[in-house]
Amino acid sequence: MAIRNIRTIGDEVLNKRCKEVKEVNERIEELIEDMLDTMYEADGVGLAAPQVGVLKRIVTIDIGDGPIIMINPEVVETSGEQTGVEGCLSVPGKHGTVTRPNYAKVVFYDENMEKCELEGTELLARAICHECDHLDGKLYVDKVEGELEDNE
Ligand code: ZN
Repeated sequence: MAIRNIRTIGDEVLNKRCKEVKEVNERIEELIEDMLDTMYEADGVGLAAPQVGVLKRIVTIDIGDGPIIMINPEVVETSGEQTGVEGCLSVPGKHGTVTRPNYAKVVFYDENMEKCELEGTELLARAICHECDHLDGKLYVDKVEGELEDNE
């Protein structure tokens, strides 16, 4: 268990497409543990592997209902719309308004490489879309409506 260094905007690792995970070996297990530690330490609701400098398709999310670990997640269905404030651990001290789907369905693999499916609405849908974007090298700052603002 370890806290990893969170990469911040400007670091090119955040703009790259991540590779699929083929098997969950010890290194991947350790990475997932570290991602959870890092996410909780930073008080984030989600973290994607590239944010700790690893170009693999792994995401962790916790919107307050316990940890969700997603390997090779793929958003397969979305609907509706929500407009709200979003932030990112890789863009410290800032927030902005982003419109996202209000519902998202994601298929992914768990730590045993079993195929899973998850449906989320509101904050969970937002977190799923935000974190999956990271795996394709996309940051929310490119979707902000109006200006990126400083946190209080
Ligand atoms: Zn983020």
